[in-house]
Amino acid sequence: MSERARRAELAANLAAVRLRIEGACAAAGRAPEAVTVIVVTKFFPATDVRILAELEVVDVGENRHPEAARKKAACLDLGLRWHFIGGLQTNKAPAVAGYADVVHSVDRAKLLPGLARGAVDRAEPLPCLIQVSLEDPERAAGASSARAGIAPTELLALADEVSAEARLRLAGLMAVAPVRMEPEVAFTRLARIREALLARHPEATVLSAGMTGDLEQAIAAGATHVRVGRAILGPRPVVE
Ligand SMILES: *Cc1c(COP(=O)(O)O)cnc(C)c1O
Repeated sequence: MSERARRAELAANLAAVRLRIEGACAAAGRAPEAVTVIVVTKFFPATDVRILAELEVVDVGENRHPEAARKKAACLDLGLRWHFIGGLQTNKAPAVAGYADVVHSVDRAKLLPGLARGAVDRAEPLPCLIQVSLEDPERAAGASSARAGIAPTELLALADEVSAEARLRLAGLMAVAPVRMEPEVAFTRLARIREALLARHPEATVLSAGMTGDLEQAIAAGATHVRVGRAILGPRPVVE
């Protein structure tokens, strides 16, 4: 596809997603400015990121190191905000904290020393979101290795630890709706979990939830950031 055709495609897709967000905000009685779209560019080349920046995208999401690092390095002139949204390995945490502008996937205390070490050269503390699991507790217990996100019962303790780290800033929560759960059910659960977090950490206002398939339900439940890949970039070239 020519660059011109790709630009037209991305522009049309972006406009359609922005319309969906506006519609969801209107339905929820929320201002459209209250929701930021993070365009998830994983698997797509830096040339697409460049076109997106020209289309006034500011926030991009990546889920793997070192793909994320390479792409940011190729796009440094664009002044984008890079959101790391993927599962974090403990030994990669310092590297990711070195280039990510926001880390969405903090799900265990073991990550914190590495993140703090990687954030040492930053002017401001690194904004971190805690990824919380919305699985039913029984299911989560049965498949704990596959579960992404901390159990809600352990969330407040981890939040305290993040906020106690001088080089990290507790910014809020991230979640993915489980595959076998209605998004409304998942995000209603998330909204309740968020209430409990805000009661203790009123500064943790970010709610990163909603993707291509369920952004409306996430916005209805209070999402401040939606992470959208396929609806903007098209199907990913590789099966995950
Ligand atoms: C890939 C990914 C997304 C984007 O998903 P789409 O269905 O392509 O919109 C959002 N969040 C996370 C954590 C992801 O890994």
